[in-house]
Formats: sequence, C-alpha cells, structure tokens
Amino acid sequence: MDHFPIFLAVQGRRIIVSGGGETALAKLRILLKTTARISVLADAPAPELVTLAQQGRITLIERAFEPGDALCATLVYAANDDAPEDARVARLARADGALVNIVDNLDHSAFITPAIVDRDPVTIAIGTEGAAPVLARAIKADLEERLPPSLGLAARVGKAFRKAAEALPMGRKRREFWADYYFNAAPQAIEKQGEAGLDAALSDLLAKHLASAPTQGRVDLVGAGPGDPELLTLKARRLLDRADVVIHDRLVSPGILELARREAILIDAGKEGFGPSMTQAQICALMVEHGKRGAHVVRLKGGDPAIFSRLDEEIEALETAGIDWSIVPGITAASAAAAGIGQSLTKRNRNSALRIVTGHDMKGFAEQDWRGLARPDTVAAIYMGARGARFIQGRLMMHGADPETPVTAVENASRPETRAIVTTLGQLAATLEEETFTGPVILLYGLCPRAAEAALPLPRTLTRADRKEEFA
Ligand code: SAH
Repeated sequence: MDHFPIFLAVQGRRIIVSGGGETALAKLRILLKTTARISVLADAPAPELVTLAQQGRITLIERAFEPGDALCATLVYAANDDAPEDARVARLARADGALVNIVDNLDHSAFITPAIVDRDPVTIAIGTEGAAPVLARAIKADLEERLPPSLGLAARVGKAFRKAAEALPMGRKRREFWADYYFNAAPQAIEKQGEAGLDAALSDLLAKHLASAPTQGRVDLVGAGPGDPELLTLKARRLLDRADVVIHDRLVSPGILELARREAILIDAGKEGFGPSMTQAQICALMVEHGKRGAHVVRLKGGDPAIFSRLDEEIEALETAGIDWSIVPGITAASAAAAGIGQSLTKRNRNSALRIVTGHDMKGFAEQDWRGLARPDTVAAIYMGARGARFIQGRLMMHGADPETPVTAVENASRPETRAIVTTLGQLAATLEEETFTGPVILLYGLCPRAAEAALPLPRTLTRADRKEEFA
C-alpha cells in the first residue's frame, strides 16, 4: 500500500484549487460536498466558477497562484491543465506547507483523491493507486446500487441516539441493537413515514432490546480451510464477521484473519502439529472464559475442525461449562492438496477407500494399520507426516509396500507459495530430507500429480535387494 487511506478533518479549513477550466470544475464537484472553505485561483475562470462565487459557495480570486497563497491551506489542487503551470503552483504551495495534488500526476502528488460513494456521514472511499480507475468506477457503481440512499439519513439520526443506546451493555448486545436498526427498523420506518418515523423507531427498538434476555455466550468451532481465503465457507465468513473473540491456530493464514470483525480480539493459540505453544487446557479455558462472559467466540482451526484438531476435547470443555457450541466444517488439507495436483482422492478401479492418517500423535510417530496401507493401490493422506517420513517409509516397506508407490508431498496447499514434491516410497525420506519446508506439508501416498502419471513408474533408487538388506 503506497497510499494510506485516512479521513481528513476539513470543516472550516481552507482548500485551494488552482485552475479555471473543466478539470478544476470536476474537482470542485466533489470538494463542494465538504464543509471546507474553498478558494479558486484562476486568471480566466469559467462562467460556472463565477456563478459559484456569486452563490457564496467558493471564494474566487481572479489571478494566477502566487507565493503565500497556500499559507494555512490544508490541501491544494493544481488543476490548470498545463503541466509547467501545475508544477509551478505545486512548488509554491509546498513551500507554503500545504499538501499538494497535481491532477492526473500521481508521481508528484502528496495525496490522491479516491472515488467516493457518498451516504454522508457514511462515506466510502475507493482507491487503486492509479492502477485501475476503471475498476474503481465499477466498484463505485456497484456500491451506489447496493446502498440505499436512505442509509445516510438513518446514520445521521442514529448518531444522535448513540448516547441513549449506551443503556445497553457494551459489546454484542449493543451491536445487535444497531444491526437491527440499520437493517430492519430504519429502512421500514423511512419507507412508512420518512425521516419523521426514525426517532420513534429508535426508542421502540431500544425498549425492545432492553427488555430481551441477556446475551448468552457461544463458541463456534470453525474450519478455516487450507489457507486460501476463497476456500472459506460462507458460514465461516459470516461468523468471522460477527465474532467478539477469535481464537486461532497458527495454521490459519493472515488473509483469513483479515476477515475477522475489526473490533474482534484475536488470540493466537499457537502452532499445530508439534505441540501447541498454548496448551490444550489453556485453549479450552480461554474459550470457556470468553463464552461465560457472553462473548461470541470463533475457535478457528486450519482445514476441517474434525480432522486432527482435538475437537472433542474442546467440545467436552464447553459442554462441562454449559456453553453452546456448533461445528462449522471446512475444507481439509487433503482435499486442497489433491486439487492442487489435479487428482481425485478416490478413483474407480484404483481405490475405493481413502485413508486419513497422521504421521505424528501425542506419543510421537504414530502407529497405523501398516499392513492395510502397504496393499497395492492404497491412497492415504498423511497429515503431519513430513518429519516422520523415514519412520513411515520404513514401516510401510517392512510390511511389503511397493517402493515404487508414488508419494507427493504438498506444501502450503491452496496458498500462492504452494509446491509439490514428487517422489516414490523408496526415496521418500531421502527426498524430503533434502528439502526445507517453511509451511505445512501433507503427504499424498499413492498419488502423483496428474501430469506426472505418464512417467509412471517413477524412477527409484533402492532396489529390492537393497530394501531386503535394509530391513532384514
Ligand atoms: N484440521 C486440519 C489438519 C490439522 S493437522 C485439516 O483438516 O487440514 C496439521 C497438518 O495438516 C499439517 O501438519 C499438515 O500436514 C496439514 N496441513 C494443513 N494445512 C495444510 C496446507 N495448506 N498444505 C499442506 N498441508 C496442510
């Protein structure tokens, strides 16, 4: 972000526009929406400018910009449609200490003016840092259509009621009141009676919310998917947007945390896989503590919350504490990894079962039904398997698995930095030991990328004789 969006206080402050033609007029159309004092400097002003000056909406000074004109000005627009003149004005104005914008000259401007959707006091500013004005216009048109013109009115009347609404306890209760006002009560009242109906609507609504039972806290155990924010479910997205507290695993990507409600408390519960930095008991205690306080907690877990994520321990803690809970499934790493390599996790005449196994559990490397896994055409998604690759390889080959069985290690499935390392069971440990992984890795045993299938069987390093020797 090269430009940081802010809302500048301009009430009663001076804004100067240098220029008397179309460009200056275009800027004025937006500046006149503000409560700033606007001066226009132009040696040959267009007639519209003269009219505006006669109406008292601007101060018109009929000469070119001079040194000192921008003293005490908050903003200066150089809008002369004349590059050398704009450069001169900009230089002088900067010397006077003003922030200067040269129209259509991003490089030499201290600020840029966004496209604006005006539902005053609700103002939406859209900027693309000059990259795609067409996109900004399209977004503006879309929002203009979606936001009813009465929104500004509802917000203005609502603002005056904020003090009264403090009768409701802070947090969820109060938020629910305002959501009810903006999305139900206000539009209905405006439709029926116009602005006159809003005051009564607010009072009635407040009485209704004051009378309703105190809010119960709840905890939703939500799957965040494998990392790509677009792979969140709509439900997860909606809950994130409402949460008071988000307790998340380290696996949850920053792009997803961005979607949490701005005021939500974000708590990092630590890393997955090899011992959380917060103990499970601490995580459970945190959920219970916030839930009891009446907060809406989203317990956000990487992938699907029901796969290797100690879901039952958390549910038990919530049940014991009498806190309501629900599970929102998510897309698990295996699905995303298989999608990334263009493969199906089950396939007619190949595997009618998919095994979901972990390479690691609380006690260390996890024991599995190795004999079953070693059978030809088995497909398994091995979570937390990269570090235990040597152990897994050894166990499987000891139980007779074909060393040529393809294995694909997918790191960072669904994320921009994803990569797939294709190998065979016989070479698994050696291959992975050469790699440095920075993100989560899942092993797809029995699968290679669709594009590599033509090259099967994949080359192997260990011969059968080697294998016998190694595991004799
Ligand atoms: N509940 C999660 C799994 C948690 S266990 C899910 O359903 O996906 C943590 C393991 O999941 C990691 O060690 C890794 O094996 C796997 N994993 C999670 N996200 C991943 C990703 N984006 N890419 C590859 N593996 C991932």
